[in-house]
Amino acid sequence: MKLLSNKVAIVTGGARGIGEAIALKLAEHGAHIAFTYVSDNSSEKAAALQEKLQALGVKAKAYQSNAGDFTQSETFVNDVIKEFGTIDICVNNAGISKDNLLLRMSAEQWDEVINTNLKSVFNMTKQVIRPMMKAKSGSIINMSSIIGITGNAGQSSYAASKAGIIGFTKSIAKEMGSRNIRCNAIAPGFIETDMTGYLKEGDTAEKYKSSIPLGRFGTGENIADVVLFLASDWSSYITGQAISVCGGLNT
Ligand code: NAP
Repeated sequence: MKLLSNKVAIVTGGARGIGEAIALKLAEHGAHIAFTYVSDNSSEKAAALQEKLQALGVKAKAYQSNAGDFTQSETFVNDVIKEFGTIDICVNNAGISKDNLLLRMSAEQWDEVINTNLKSVFNMTKQVIRPMMKAKSGSIINMSSIIGITGNAGQSSYAASKAGIIGFTKSIAKEMGSRNIRCNAIAPGFIETDMTGYLKEGDTAEKYKSSIPLGRFGTGENIADVVLFLASDWSSYITGQAISVCGGLNT
């Protein structure tokens, strides 16, 4: 019997990057996976991942759904319950960055980042707690960032959204603990994905690397390993925490 056998997991923003690594990791450990993507450009990647997950012997389905939209999130969760029966694990991973100095940031740019990164976590959590309350258990894992802890010039909207996720996570942990629903956040450092493509090589990459005690950028799998831990009973006495996974950068 695998660690997550018969569990149903949702992963938002699962078609690429950290979300893809999470979907694969949870499926390798036996969980059935419903994952989302938002852009038409990711349709092919989503279809390919769906097949890859099914080849691991679990049920898997990709859904095109905007996590920042309340109605779409509600429809998505209802569809997952119809298709999969329940939801045991919800990984709120979808996120974007639109970096700009405050002087140059428009209200639209601010709203887009806050809606996609923070409101999405409200949208999804509000929907998944119903099946979790019915099952008397659940694990919600929210993707924050070390930028939400430290702040960063040029990233005020991103930092605010990621700090907001930590406050939300702690509050839900306190609200839902008595129902055996756990809620934790992960704060990744620099992880190699499309989002950090600008760090691939050259002097900037070396400068950033030299500030990381472990001397390298992280991988999606490094984050997925911690998601697996938080999703499983190995972490059954952990809730309301924000765990930094950053090679020691936030130390
Ligand atoms: P990424 O490679 O840019 O992937 C982002 C994912 O989010 C994509 O699958 C994208 O879907 C999805 N997404 C964006 N907006 C969405 C929406 N409105 N509804 C549903 N899905 C949406 O980014 P990543 O590096 O894997 O980041 C994943 C999460 O980790 C984010 O929350 C990010 O803030 C956080 N994080 C990343 C790092 C890092 O260094 N990479 C560090 C700290 C925190 P499409 O494929 O359809 O575009």
